[in-house]
Amino acid sequence: MPDPEICGLKLDDFLIRMEEFHGYRSPGLLLGGMMLGTALQELGPTPYLNVVTETVVCLPDAVQLLTPCTIGNGFLQVLDWGKFALTSYDRLTLSGVRVWLNSDSLSDYPLICAWFERSANRPEKPAFQELAAEILLAGTHLIGQQDVRLHRALKDSHRVPTGRCPECGESYRLSLGPSCPACRNEGYYVHRTKR
Ligand SMILES: [Zn+2]
Repeated sequence: MPDPEICGLKLDDFLIRMEEFHGYRSPGLLLGGMMLGTALQELGPTPYLNVVTETVVCLPDAVQLLTPCTIGNGFLQVLDWGKFALTSYDRLTLSGVRVWLNSDSLSDYPLICAWFERSANRPEKPAFQELAAEILLAGTHLIGQQDVRLHRALKDSHRVPTGRCPECGESYRLSLGPSCPACRNEGYYVHRTKR
């Protein structure tokens, strides 16, 4: 097999950067990188690239590793739909390309199928190497694609009004209520000791 490239990165380089960024070699990131590669290639070059993923797992990291779009700069949106799909789009023209994992093709690839559907028939998890080989073999065969047009750019460019919470004194998003979520016992932590 010729040395495959993922979004312009040699496979070995992509795997090293994946370990650095994501913590380990992940089949989902490899597949996500290939899906992203298809979406970017079909969209064509644009200085106004945005991406939206339809799952919180794997795909957001593929986007952040391989494109300038991140959660922090607002050019990556992450929807929690549990769909292994993403759309790359031009935020000025709103033209995009949506790609997804094609379930109809999965039955041709037993390891990918077992990994994706967490199949109980295979007691041990397939090794990354085996799974990666099958993902590379499948290539674009596993990837559905369609042209889409967005209703609007998804980056929220409105300034969010913030102000001080009357109880803790920290600044928070005022639309959340008269005091911050933590002071209304809607926080994600319990207060233990004061430092
Ligand atoms: Zn507060």
